[in-house]
Amino acid sequence: MEKIFQKFNRPGSLSSLRRVVQILFCVIVISIGIKFYLFVSQLEIGLMPDFERPPGVEAFLPISALVSLKHMLFTGKINGIHPSALVIFLIVCLTALVVKKGFCSWICPLSLFSDILAKWHAIVFKKKLKLPFWVDLLLRSIKYILAVFFIWNIYYKMPINSIEQFILSPYNQFADIKMLKFFTDISNTALIVILVLCFLSFSIPYFWCRYLCPYGAVIGVLSFLSIGKIKRNSSHCIDCGKCEKNCPGLIKIRQKETIHSSECTACMTCVKNCPEKQSIGFFVFWGKMRIGQPTMALILILIFFGGISLAKVSDNWQNKITKPEYLRYVIQKDMPWGQNGQIDPKKMEKMMEIMKNIQAQRAQRTQPFEK
Ligand code: SF4
Ligand code: SF4
Repeated sequence: MEKIFQKFNRPGSLSSLRRVVQILFCVIVISIGIKFYLFVSQLEIGLMPDFERPPGVEAFLPISALVSLKHMLFTGKINGIHPSALVIFLIVCLTALVVKKGFCSWICPLSLFSDILAKWHAIVFKKKLKLPFWVDLLLRSIKYILAVFFIWNIYYKMPINSIEQFILSPYNQFADIKMLKFFTDISNTALIVILVLCFLSFSIPYFWCRYLCPYGAVIGVLSFLSIGKIKRNSSHCIDCGKCEKNCPGLIKIRQKETIHSSECTACMTCVKNCPEKQSIGFFVFWGKMRIGQPTMALILILIFFGGISLAKVSDNWQNKITKPEYLRYVIQKDMPWGQNGQIDPKKMEKMMEIMKNIQAQRAQRTQPFEK
């Protein structure tokens, strides 16, 4: 067993255990996306889906999660509109308290994409392109400004009755459908923004994660309290610099004994590349216990799926919006007449088709009772 893990942990190996875990979560996210797309597609032609909406889709509703957290702090209850958004947010926060920003480098699908772009960057440019210190520092503040903006507005500016109104508003209730439409009916502006971000993440590795991701900013701050940290033992270190050279967080590892930096994603690249195995490692319980990639993977998987199982058992996973409510929203959204009373013929045609499907489905449902 140990030999298999050693193979996974070869320096520079593309088959590292971290990559396996990243791909596993990426496949889960893609399958959730496909299932939700099919769910909404059925609603759009007037059919009531015969399967449940995948709750994991709420992982992409961080604002709803922040609002729900404030609601929970005031009422002691998890609201039923997007419970899994809050559950996933709490799970991610918990991972930050145990294994720093391990969520970023082991689970987040965007980090897998950023890793691939960073690899292409290394192939094209041979050497990492680094921004001057002050530019880097200024850009790094953007993600904190964005996080503070959301937290300030939700936790300071919104009274609890506005929080409740927001939770029950159609905007929040059907935010998952809006988010899906953002990608499936993408506007030219959004497409250009995404392409620019991809280009920036290729030119300056981890641009999105390092400078813009507010989720990363929140867990980065929490990670200061983490019981797990990278530790370097200067008595074994031969000062070869391989850890620093390969660190995606651009951390000056050789100047420290313990890495407290909020940029450390617990990716263990430094550990993998170090020729002196005793000189650097990831330690939990405030430096008392050294863990390797397999234990790190196990901790993250246990926290993630353990948290989700707990939410399922306590009925805080699937939301309380019924399928007829989803159907009503989707049909109303596509109403063929605008505010000035004009009728859009294309929408009207679609509406007629929807009505036909609804009638056919109703007829099918009542058949067994008519016999
Ligand atoms: S290489 Fe090491 S110090 Fe750098 S981000 Fe990864 S775990 Fe942290
Ligand atoms: S790679 Fe290992 S030996 Fe080399 S500088 Fe880093 S900690 Fe020291």
